[in-house]
Amino acid sequence: MADSRSSDVIGHNVRAVLDNIRQAALRAGRRPEAVRLIAATKTVSPDSVLSAIAAGVRILGESRLQEALPKIEAIGAHEGLEWHFIGRLQRRKVKSVVGRFRLIHSVDSLDLAAEIDRRAAEAGIVQAVLMEVNIGDEASKGGLAPAAVAEAVAAIKDLPNVSVRGLMAVPPPSTDPEAARPYFRRLRELALSLLPQGLQELSMGMSQDYAVAVEEGATMVRVGTAIFGARHG
Ligand SMILES: *Cc1c(COP(=O)(O)O)cnc(C)c1O
Repeated sequence: MADSRSSDVIGHNVRAVLDNIRQAALRAGRRPEAVRLIAATKTVSPDSVLSAIAAGVRILGESRLQEALPKIEAIGAHEGLEWHFIGRLQRRKVKSVVGRFRLIHSVDSLDLAAEIDRRAAEAGIVQAVLMEVNIGDEASKGGLAPAAVAEAVAAIKDLPNVSVRGLMAVPPPSTDPEAARPYFRRLRELALSLLPQGLQELSMGMSQDYAVAVEEGATMVRVGTAIFGARHG
């Protein structure tokens, strides 16, 4: 049984996040509908995810495949519900991800894209993806170097069963949301420079800095903690 009090809290949080997204979009002269909320569900129980769905969330982002599969099963079908894969993706897990997730946010190599293409062809689908960019050039982080993105996108265009829709990034950690702004801006400029190739989606912004990301052009924000509370594990 879902604890009705925590369900109330999640509903309240979802409404607050949606309102903040709306306010940030309006501040930046953007249409609020141009920004989609992705609820990041790692470590979150199916009951809590259902509370978020009841409050209007329609996109769920999972970053751990082994956790996602039983959760997808437990949540079941809901009108308009989409799952996105937002975490680091290993080549050997591609087969389980392709077709099950509407959008893969974390493609960071040609090798990975080629494997997605192969599995998508087997499944008879075109898999939508974002390219993950290491926007802060951090040694510890995955993602393509900003300077390598144009060439990677051009190469992936030749793969018939992969469709690149845009870019994703996680800026260097900071306790100040404003510190992320230059990185968000840089990602947007990179996407704009590649617009002839159809890169319109910008997946950027998490609990701490999603409002800044929306001001800087995010079309998708990935929010976990601000909806579900702090993670334990
Ligand atoms: C966990 C996660 C998020 C959400 O992070 P919060 O700070 O809890 O909002 C966003 N994106 C990715 C890739 C994640 O793994």
